[in-house]
Amino acid sequence: MGTVSRRTFLKLVAAGTAAAMWQGNAAVPAMASATPYRLKDTKVSPSVCIYCGVGCGLLVYAKDGKVINVEGDPDNPNNEGGLCGKGASAYEVYASPKRLQKILYRAPGSDQWEEKEWSWAIPEIAKRIKKTRDANFTIKDGEVIANRANALGHLGGASHDTDECYLLSKLARSLGIVNIEHQARI
Ligand code: SF4
Repeated sequence: MGTVSRRTFLKLVAAGTAAAMWQGNAAVPAMASATPYRLKDTKVSPSVCIYCGVGCGLLVYAKDGKVINVEGDPDNPNNEGGLCGKGASAYEVYASPKRLQKILYRAPGSDQWEEKEWSWAIPEIAKRIKKTRDANFTIKDGEVIANRANALGHLGGASHDTDECYLLSKLARSLGIVNIEHQARI
């Protein structure tokens, strides 16, 4: 076996590297273009986050009659494009496949959830509220008129908007509920 000079060895390495690079390039198809801009041809509408009194500005992008993206409005002086976790989830509230579409009911003592209709749930909730209120209502606390429904409580949730919270707190107070709380204080 003949010896290979240093110069010949370097030429062979260079040729091999060039061939490998050429093959590598040939194996990867050239990208025709960059990834298409997903907000291209959308209609953008400025809006305001519904969730709290900060009033952050939103940009809502729609295509073919459907919302496809919601993000903070950089021109709004309240938030300058930023959103808190709640506002940033605005699109998910609209589009998430995990969003519950049906009422789920778990009977007392059961470990199973059952799907129910609104026509069953609303009268059932009203019936149970009335029964609990009637059985526990405090008209007087000593000599002081109380009109208090001690056995009931009301808990708001993060997807309630400002108007819904206003109406729900009015409803709760009209029933005499004093245990009113919200899970998403800001
Ligand atoms: S919930 Fe968050 S994003 Fe919405 S207005 Fe309030 S602070 Fe802004």
